[in-house]
Amino acid sequence: MLIASEKRIKVGTRPRERWRKEFGEWYNDVLIKAEIYDHRYPAKGMGVWRGYGKKIANRVYGILKKMLNENGYEEVQFPALIPEKIFRIESEHVRGFEAEVFWVTRGGLTELEEKYVLRPTSETPMYYMFRIWINSYRDLPVKIYQIVNVWRYETKWTRPLFREREISVFFEAHGAFASKEENENEVKLATKIYATFFRKLGIPFIITERPEWDKFPGAEKTYAFDTLMPNGRALQIGTVHNLGQRFAKAFGIKFQDKDLKIKYVWQNCFGVSGRVVTSIIAIHGDDHGLALLPSIAPIQIVIVPIPYKGFEQAVIQKCREVYERLKNAGFSVVLDESDETPGEKFYKWELRGVPLRIEIGPTDIKEKEITITRRDTFERIRVNEEKIVDAIRELMNKVEEEMKKAAWDWFNSKLEIANSKEEVGKLLEEGYIVLTSWCGDEKCVEDITELPGVKILGALVDENLEYIKPKHGKCIFCERKAKYLVAIAKSY
Ligand SMILES: [Zn+2]
Repeated sequence: MLIASEKRIKVGTRPRERWRKEFGEWYNDVLIKAEIYDHRYPAKGMGVWRGYGKKIANRVYGILKKMLNENGYEEVQFPALIPEKIFRIESEHVRGFEAEVFWVTRGGLTELEEKYVLRPTSETPMYYMFRIWINSYRDLPVKIYQIVNVWRYETKWTRPLFREREISVFFEAHGAFASKEENENEVKLATKIYATFFRKLGIPFIITERPEWDKFPGAEKTYAFDTLMPNGRALQIGTVHNLGQRFAKAFGIKFQDKDLKIKYVWQNCFGVSGRVVTSIIAIHGDDHGLALLPSIAPIQIVIVPIPYKGFEQAVIQKCREVYERLKNAGFSVVLDESDETPGEKFYKWELRGVPLRIEIGPTDIKEKEITITRRDTFERIRVNEEKIVDAIRELMNKVEEEMKKAAWDWFNSKLEIANSKEEVGKLLEEGYIVLTSWCGDEKCVEDITELPGVKILGALVDENLEYIKPKHGKCIFCERKAKYLVAIAKSY
């Protein structure tokens, strides 16, 4: 333990007043000031990924892509336009999306004979092609994904990366399988992939089976991952849909099996959006701005020279020396030699969430020590200059793990069991995700869903998609037998 043996100064708890109380404004400020995403583009619900934000998104999606590739998925890319006749093939899907699609009706000055839908999601174009590609059991399974833009005509509110008209980093994976069992196993695999992915990002979550009335249009079952924003509102961050054979039958996706019989395929799909980046910003941030995990930070370390009169040259020289050593050791490091004051530099790099800051001044040079400040806790650590590479490596692992743990601890403190209907209302007001025993009947929770912003997230399941047992024998609403531990929250 290199770190523990060094001098440590505890700076205190994180400033999180504004983060919690004015979350919406805080979030918009961070997106703009940290140069992540700019929603000032003159089209409602459409924003611009800036360089720093795109780097974060690429790292995040890179983790997901790697996991998909390792599990036999292939990246593909489909056209953004869907011919109307393809879009209309599966009726329930159409009903679910019709009110929120953009249409392309003109080509130049000519009204098009066949209109196009700007894809709101890609089941229909993909499954049209599945029918062409899949003929024999030898063509199965098909496992593909793409990361593309999708468009949904949101008529209510929009918020950058939460709810957009152009969803700009939409990840969707789609599979076709020979048997029901194989498909169900894949739905479980997808759930495990997401659980691992969110854990790697330090995004705490619960998994629920969405109730009948809240399933993806055309799905037999929808499983969803929800996390919690600082203001106590739940945010859906990922979904896994078991599509059964509904699309296969609508699109005619059939194959000849080993037994020579012609069968329909079984399908699933799963997706995430820019809300993953939202969650990273919201969950790990504080009043100073972003705080990034070392594993996804585009810049892991910033070096800030603290020049004193007469020592400017020595300080810069030492900074450059340390910079070279850290760069050569494989860290992503920036030496800030701009003409801003050290205070301005601290502010700038804290806002951008750089996990570690190194300050070097004349005293540090004299004492052959270096001061490192953690972005997540503001803890300052002094380490021997000779040991800097190992110390930083160890500290980064520590920061990574402690940030994840802090996020889960906070989330778990916001989950609460309610023993009565009155308690449900009270806990929802206080910003908890409420868990309680439920029979599964929609009528029992009707009153609750009428409360402003409240949503029945669904029956709590584990990563194997097994229902988590309710705490009480009886539904707290109707006293019939309880089947589920239902999660209820104020939600986006
Ligand atoms: Zn009931």
